[in-house]
Amino acid sequence: MDNCLFCKITERKIPAEIIFENDHILAFKDITPQAPVHILVIPKEHISSPEEITEKNSAIAGEVLAAAAAIAKQQSLEGYRLVFNCNEIAGQTVFHLHCHLLGGRKMNWPPG
Ligand code: AMP
Ligand code: ZN
Repeated sequence: MDNCLFCKITERKIPAEIIFENDHILAFKDITPQAPVHILVIPKEHISSPEEITEKNSAIAGEVLAAAAAIAKQQSLEGYRLVFNCNEIAGQTVFHLHCHLLGGRKMNWPPG
């Protein structure tokens, strides 16, 4: 996908601090961390938002969650939050599906 920041990170055209990678998934540190641990877990395939998840491609969403859980375990987090922002009104700024893995501090609810 041309002009997609996270596709460019996947293709190594833009640098990122990569934490985990397999054939389908990439995880890297968020450039503006909102918690001591703030990692983005993305499918390598371009899916623009949670809205684009269908029965046909939902397996990749499961892989994103499984990778996030494995990374959280590897980071020895006592607890953590997984967030998918969907559309601008909910805070989505990059239109390539990503799961925020946030941890290392107390989380409040409801979020702002
Ligand atoms: P969202 O607002 O849910 O779309 O999340 C996008 C996230 O991408 C934000 O938390 C940004 O800080 C993060 N971000 C933007 N550019 C980069 C980059 N070059 N490398 C790593 N994270 C980035
Ligand atoms: Zn993309």
